[in-house]
Amino acid sequence: MKTLFFAFRCSFVALIFSLFTITGQAQSAQQWQAGQVLSTTALGKINIDSCFTASPITDQIFKRIWLKSFKRDCTVPTDDLRYLRVLHINKDGHTQMGELICNKAIAQDLLDIFRKLYQAGYRIEKMRLVDEYDADDERSMADNNTSCFNFRKIAGSQKLSYHSQGLAIDINTRYNPCLNTRTGLVQPANGKRYAHHRINKKNQPIRFIDKNDLCYKLFIERGFTWGGSWNNPKDYQHFEKRNP
Ligand SMILES: [Zn+2]
Repeated sequence: MKTLFFAFRCSFVALIFSLFTITGQAQSAQQWQAGQVLSTTALGKINIDSCFTASPITDQIFKRIWLKSFKRDCTVPTDDLRYLRVLHINKDGHTQMGELICNKAIAQDLLDIFRKLYQAGYRIEKMRLVDEYDADDERSMADNNTSCFNFRKIAGSQKLSYHSQGLAIDINTRYNPCLNTRTGLVQPANGKRYAHHRINKKNQPIRFIDKNDLCYKLFIERGFTWGGSWNNPKDYQHFEKRNP
């Protein structure tokens, strides 16, 4: 009986300890700011699952997007959107905390894709909400920022972009610009030199997205369309999911 009591007491202590550890892990991942570079020591102390999360749009997040990416005439309810936090490897090879807003219909796709890209060491320079650039797409793209939701029209048209519903994402935007093959316009303007000569060199940290690229493969596997396959524009940074 004494042994049984001892075993029971040990497992109770172990349970309390593991609950404490789980809570501690979740807290430390949440405390990291988006954009923060993380040390190997800090990463070693936490459960990696707590770094890849999707959550509803809280009042705090809504304040950041209102009248920026979430315009007054926005037709997408906030209930359809999710705030994602994921890890990514930046241009210098360091782990960084990223953030995105997307449609809830592709939230799990993005969590899976970014986790695989992170594990493969695929470099993504920045991943901040477009609202950090006042939802100005050109500014965000020129800064090579990866982003998703932005209630806006397709450049040069009256049609709403898939970004408006959070169903499209732009990756490493400066190195994967959008080229209008009729007019020659390149967006962002500082990505011009990457619009035509798109041969990946061996040690190039940020890859040009092409059909051999891991990023391309992961998005296509999950039913996304790649803008680089279009005739016009050639939108190398862009993936969208039309029927999620
Ligand atoms: Zn796009």
